[in-house]
Amino acid sequence: AALLAGSIGALAEVMGDAQRAAGATERLLELLAAQSPVQSVLLPDTLPPRTAQGAALTLENIGFRYPSRPESAALHGLSLDIRPGETVAVVGPSGAGKTTLFQLLLRFYDPQQGSIKLDGVDIKYLDLHTLRNAIGIVPQDTIIFSANALENIRYGRVGASDAEVIAAAKMAAAHEFIERLPEGYQSFLGERGVRLSGGQRQRIAIARALLKNPPLLLLDEATSALDAESERAVQGALEAAMVGRTTLVIAHRLATVQRADRIIVLEHGHVVETGSHAELVAHNGLYASLAALQFNIVNEM
Ligand code: ADP
Ligand code: MG
Repeated sequence: AALLAGSIGALAEVMGDAQRAAGATERLLELLAAQSPVQSVLLPDTLPPRTAQGAALTLENIGFRYPSRPESAALHGLSLDIRPGETVAVVGPSGAGKTTLFQLLLRFYDPQQGSIKLDGVDIKYLDLHTLRNAIGIVPQDTIIFSANALENIRYGRVGASDAEVIAAAKMAAAHEFIERLPEGYQSFLGERGVRLSGGQRQRIAIARALLKNPPLLLLDEATSALDAESERAVQGALEAAMVGRTTLVIAHRLATVQRADRIIVLEHGHVVETGSHAELVAHNGLYASLAALQFNIVNEM
């Protein structure tokens, strides 16, 4: 498993350089995370049983350089303490280290310095499948497979019953639009089938994550605008998905940062500000200027 992780890390890195704009890394992350349940041989589970309110996450003084770019640190001295059930929004300019943080949590790379603990266990001592089974990912751009709607959602947890798939779709606000497809849940999706809108694809991703039922949810919010109906539906679906788990969201929307328990602002691989939306706006620092640009807060407040 460690060997595989190494080569995947290298692959993710190459693809990250070449096809960052196409979201290839995000796709790869989702593919890998979604694949975990398929493994038939699992090492004994070394994670404590999941708590009702989600996982605790502790990052201590993380220092990380991409192997291909040893001259510059992507993260340095990053510390974070996230309580079970907390929703933390991560914001920051492009290149701040947001995606890198997610990659370390999924152990596509190990930091050269510091530790990451999930429920008190250093993740480098966890079996990779155990770790990735504990983490649900909703990427910016969801991959839809050439398969019907049922199978597309079941990918979140292979072996789930049809009833479980449909229950997850309902919670993710995907059930209604799926039922309206020509053949409902049997409708063939993907390139050669029904093409879904961005908001619909996100709800499929949320349904997969709900089916997986992980204690930790990593959300990379879409930057592209959704139509108003999808926007509302996705917002509701995300709220359902966050209940009873710890959520880390790379946030691009005002509604998301306002709903978060805490916002952390990353810049050059450090946490430079932390607080609520109101606190950070009042602080009038990096967050305030980002918010003014990205969230149009002049209009919304
Ligand atoms: P963000 O997601 O906040 O935009 P990233 O985590 O993608 O930022 O990037 C943080 C830093 O690491 C940037 O300087 C970026 O150029 C660098 N970086 C990101 N991915 C790679 C990679 N695969 N190889 C080398 N450097 C990378
Ligand atoms: Mg990024």
